[in-house]
Amino acid sequence: MYRQTWLEVNLDDIADNVRKIRAICGKRIIAVLKADAYGSGDIQVCRTVLEAGAEMIAVSSSDEGLMLRNEGCQAEIMILGMAQTDDIPLLIENNIAAAAYSLKWAKDAAAKGCRGLKVQMKVDTGMNRIGFRDNAELKEALDILLEAGAVPTGIFTHFACADTSREMTDRQYLKFAEAVRYLDYPFEWIHCDNSDATVYFKDPLTNACRLGISLYGISTFQKDLKYPLAFYTRIGMVKHVGAGETIGYGATYTASEDELIATVPVGYADGFIRKNQGRKVYADGVYAEVVGRVCMDQAMIRLPEYRPEDTVVEIFGPHIPLEQMAADLETIPYEIICLVSPRVTRVYVKNGIKAAEYNERIHKSMK
Ligand SMILES: *Cc1c(COP(=O)(O)O)cnc(C)c1O
Repeated sequence: MYRQTWLEVNLDDIADNVRKIRAICGKRIIAVLKADAYGSGDIQVCRTVLEAGAEMIAVSSSDEGLMLRNEGCQAEIMILGMAQTDDIPLLIENNIAAAAYSLKWAKDAAAKGCRGLKVQMKVDTGMNRIGFRDNAELKEALDILLEAGAVPTGIFTHFACADTSREMTDRQYLKFAEAVRYLDYPFEWIHCDNSDATVYFKDPLTNACRLGISLYGISTFQKDLKYPLAFYTRIGMVKHVGAGETIGYGATYTASEDELIATVPVGYADGFIRKNQGRKVYADGVYAEVVGRVCMDQAMIRLPEYRPEDTVVEIFGPHIPLEQMAADLETIPYEIICLVSPRVTRVYVKNGIKAAEYNERIHKSMK
């Protein structure tokens, strides 16, 4: 490894989570691997979820889909976000489905040529992000796309409050069901559930669900999933700092007595943001406070008792839940893991052993 800071991704745990959720919901699984599989590495996670029974991969944009194809992924791939109509020839060539999300998009697609393009109709039922808000427009767009030779394979919507409001979710579902009925088209994929809805949303209409965050064990309702992700670094240097000495930029921390200060090679450029100052990390049996400002590439921690150089330091993982770190930083687990930057080596565990190391930047430079 190039630097002693890494994100451990346990692929066995991800596979277990897919199988468990699949058994609970009884629908086909679309694994949402946008943003490099929420920071965990889409190439490796893609293989794992497909082996575990997922039947489609969803990404946010054309580049993410093309990258997976270039890496040999042969599964069905769909784009959830706003694909550029200029990219349609590439999407057709690579068999990647686009979301048809507005009448303008459908008209542009038809004008530029979309014969053979797979499309999934996106219905906006209350999220007010993208999608058709009006059934007549939705129908018009479908007709335009059919006329232009596109291949409608699915229809979907997205819940805004699956974790907090059953009432809002039910309302959105009813609007979605109405849109599906209105079109009366034999779509192969009909889906609305995100991770949280997947657990409880049973309905006779939809036949797939879109799993993102629950692949990583984070779920509002399902508490027996595994946590495949852990973020680690190692102590690079330990020293005694005397009372009155300060630590780091801006001298924002002053030692009140003789203190053991360790330096770890993780900083805000790795996604360990400055707001972590004052929080604790875990070093072989003890919790150590992050003292002084977090630097770009390094941070200092105060050890309550001596730990030697090379001691593994956990930022989140078995001793510091990702959910706890997110709560401390007043955000959500999604943001914490997406922030772990590409320069942090991903270490993959498979069949119980460390199976691979992947550093995207080195990987590219060696190609
Ligand atoms: C991100 C996303 C998902 C997955 O959401 P999770 O809460 O991570 O399960 C599903 N559908 C759409 C449209 C999304 O943007």
